[in-house]
Amino acid sequence: MKKEKKHEADGSGCHVVLFPCSLKGNLNSMLKLAQLLALHHLHVTFVNTNHHFCDFQALSQTYPTLHFKTFPHAFLHNPPSGDHSTAELYSSMNSHAKPLLTHILLSHNPTLTCLIADGFVAALSAEVADQLGIPLIHFRAISVSSFWALFCAPILFQSKQLPITGDEDMDRIITTLPGMENTLRCRDLPSFFRGTQSHLVNPLKSMVHECHQSLRAQALILNTFEELDGPLLSQIRLKFPKVFAVGPLHSHLNSRRECDAKTTPSTSSFSEVDTSCLTWLDSQPLKSVIYVSFGSIATVTREELMEFWHGLVNSKKRFLWVMRPDMVVGKDEDSHDRVPPELEEATKERGFIVGWAPQEEVLAHKAVGAFLTHSGWNSTLESLVAGVPMICWPFFADQQINSRFVSEVWKLGLDMKDVCDRHVVEKMVNDVMVHRRDEFVRSAQEMARLAHKSVSPGGSSYSSLDDLIQYIKSIGQ
Ligand code: UDP
Repeated sequence: MKKEKKHEADGSGCHVVLFPCSLKGNLNSMLKLAQLLALHHLHVTFVNTNHHFCDFQALSQTYPTLHFKTFPHAFLHNPPSGDHSTAELYSSMNSHAKPLLTHILLSHNPTLTCLIADGFVAALSAEVADQLGIPLIHFRAISVSSFWALFCAPILFQSKQLPITGDEDMDRIITTLPGMENTLRCRDLPSFFRGTQSHLVNPLKSMVHECHQSLRAQALILNTFEELDGPLLSQIRLKFPKVFAVGPLHSHLNSRRECDAKTTPSTSSFSEVDTSCLTWLDSQPLKSVIYVSFGSIATVTREELMEFWHGLVNSKKRFLWVMRPDMVVGKDEDSHDRVPPELEEATKERGFIVGWAPQEEVLAHKAVGAFLTHSGWNSTLESLVAGVPMICWPFFADQQINSRFVSEVWKLGLDMKDVCDRHVVEKMVNDVMVHRRDEFVRSAQEMARLAHKSVSPGGSSYSSLDDLIQYIKSIGQ
């Protein structure tokens, strides 16, 4: 009996199943959460239903209580790329995940303490957890602003601020969104509000429904911190009584690892990383390089690619660019990796292109002065933690609202939004790296300081993670 009590006190009597969504960004952040729980001696089963490369063996060696259950190609045969296949993944997970999740939970019951599921499958996980009587916590990999905007969509319809119609003035201000009154234009709402993604039946309705299903979970875990999203967290807490803001997760994990000298860092990337760019960065002057990456899903047409390329070259700045093999779409697919002859010399002189970079290390490198990003939530947090100003070119999902917050709320950079033009790219690169550099660097460094403080002992996210661990242990008793 005594021994059991001791186990419970250090967390080792608790067993948590983590059920992520198979998108790289979601997987990345949920795997960080899994490592944080394992650092606290909780037994964690991470359900891996993806097609992506990841060295799970090394992770299991680093964290003896972290286990992986792999079901490759459980939902899609090809890795998602672009918004179309993300919608397919959403439909596929919602049609096929139920038996898989039920099977996994049954095979661990009754020793299971709780299920932590990605909000991407909020309704489905709530249904299964209800049926089996297993406590449920939802994890949201998207930004708090987008989660809250989606949750409040019914208010926007009631107050006639929605829908956005075909001939809408996209600069119209949204005035009735609680906690964000007059902050957003129509164009800043998450992409699902635009209603152009006809391949997913009524995407906004589904997303709003999923958000409301999180009311069925006992608690909500968010990848943010009080100093960043305090006003919105206060709004969310009015509806969701148990919210744990434990982010930025990647920084939190690094901070806890430093406190726990026994744990050696191990890679958790879901793609094979090309580290040659770090050697290239080593030979570049301080803060001279703009890092360009559109994450794991966003795509560009050949025309858009050319606008970015010309803009970068014309800015005369050095650039490190992640060009995934599946990044360029359109008719001219054969030529996607061809360097245009007129840009060849300048690219050789000042540019470096990789298929997948070690992004956290790149952003922390002293040669990097700015980040041209698609404003995915992980990339936004990683840039913010590194104190690197951003130029945002949002693609879809929460990225439109994230880029608005970066430019107008947190003042950490500029938002290109719906424009893709070489002159704008050139001007923004020079504004962020030269003309308005001091202003952006100052606010970016202050935000980085607050982020580090939040994940250090006594900080808001640090305490919130301790509370989460205690909460899970209390369920297990
Ligand atoms: N990433 C990376 N190397 C790259 C590009 C991206 O490691 O070359 C990582 C990045 O650090 C982030 C994730 O991929 O953690 C992308 O997630 P995000 O939420 O920013 O965008 P998504 O891919 O979900 O659109």
